Amino acid sequence: TLFLDRIERHNPALNAFITVDRDGALAAARAADARIAAGTAAPLTGIPLAHKDVFCTEGVLTTCGSKMLSNFVSPYDAHVVALLKAAGAVSLGKTNMDEFAMGSSNENSHFGPVKNPWDTTRVPGGSSGGSAAAVAARLAPIATGTDTGGSVRQPAALTGVTGIKPTYGVVSRYGMIAYASSLDQGGAFGASAADCAVLLSAMAGFDQRDSTSLERPAEDYTRELAAPAAGDKPLTGLRIGLPREFFAEGMADDVRAALDTALDAYRQLGASTVEVSLPNAKLAIPAYYVIAPAEASSNLSRFDGVRYGHRAAEYRDLAEMYAKSRAEGFGAEVKRRILVGTYVLSHGYYDAYYLQAQKLRRLIAQDFQAAFAQCDVIAGPTSPTTAWAIGEKADDPVQMYLSDIYTIAVNLAGLPALSHPCGFGAGNLPVGLQLIGDYFAEARLLATAHQYQ
Ligand code: GLN
Repeated sequence: TLFLDRIERHNPALNAFITVDRDGALAAARAADARIAAGTAAPLTGIPLAHKDVFCTEGVLTTCGSKMLSNFVSPYDAHVVALLKAAGAVSLGKTNMDEFAMGSSNENSHFGPVKNPWDTTRVPGGSSGGSAAAVAARLAPIATGTDTGGSVRQPAALTGVTGIKPTYGVVSRYGMIAYASSLDQGGAFGASAADCAVLLSAMAGFDQRDSTSLERPAEDYTRELAAPAAGDKPLTGLRIGLPREFFAEGMADDVRAALDTALDAYRQLGASTVEVSLPNAKLAIPAYYVIAPAEASSNLSRFDGVRYGHRAAEYRDLAEMYAKSRAEGFGAEVKRRILVGTYVLSHGYYDAYYLQAQKLRRLIAQDFQAAFAQCDVIAGPTSPTTAWAIGEKADDPVQMYLSDIYTIAVNLAGLPALSHPCGFGAGNLPVGLQLIGDYFAEARLLATAHQYQ
């Protein structure tokens, strides 16, 4: 009950959880005890965790941070939830998030903003802000999240924890409420890279119910964590690429200073650094904010007030029922994305926007491949600034979108990346360092961060 008690004490100030499943957690813990006694425990048996409220959980409320689903109890478990249950992990509950995972600050939740545990007047980042804040405040040792454009890495950075988004297709999207399907990917939060490695190992794997799930053998992401023989520098031979464009402008001075110190530490560990270039990375935000809303407008058409979700109380006919249910059920940011998405997909505009964005996506992916010819991993900032004040960017969507500048290109290319804490900026706020790997380099990324930690 250690974590349940901590949630009870600290969640009112943080708003990290939407649902706390005390009874379910206690029952799962008893089952785990029995399994441990029987000698059939897996690495996560008995370990508490929290799920982002984007993952469907059988019998437990799944809201996706939206009024639309504020009464939705899923009849089945997401693949990730089922895997972790089978591993014996103990779910404490469901964490707060930006509505339908759209946002970078967790201010778009129907259930109110999450507060950053380091300074409760500041945002925790988003959209997986509840999971990040829960791990940062030790309300849960590990948590699941999803990352469509940075929603695991950015909140990890802003709350001083470690978060990894694997290669697209590694974690099944079955039962993970869809935002932008070609970008959405489940990920893991922990206090360290080692904790993330254990969680990701249990979450990943082929699932035939997700058509983009990759048919690959299961991997043990802890396999490269072992410390080197005494005397060796653990990262000797590792070439870290530093994209010129990431270090050019836009990064706050305190973030830059923390990053420089961390890169020195990497050199002390034996790594070398080499400048690389991602010339098209600056086009990632415009490309993403065409592709993601386009896919969202299609995915969110299923919320019509008929099959599940919020339904308006009064209406004259079917069309008005749809219209009123959606008008009442979705928040402002979700509506903005649906409008943008519908526009860029509409006849006469498709070629000008969506098709162009898909071409940029290809160029961005090619830039990364060229960079990986010169280096093993890419390092840079996760977020251009530390956590900002609640309300500061809430009325300025473009400012909010720009905070994703370093994370989004990775999703467009489908690459794995993590963020780990690398010191503190002004006001003692955590700074995150992002490590990007080539496809399927998760174990390498985690081992690299582990040596730093
Ligand atoms: N901030 C980005 C967005 O609003 C990314 C969100 C995410 O990764 N789910 O779309």
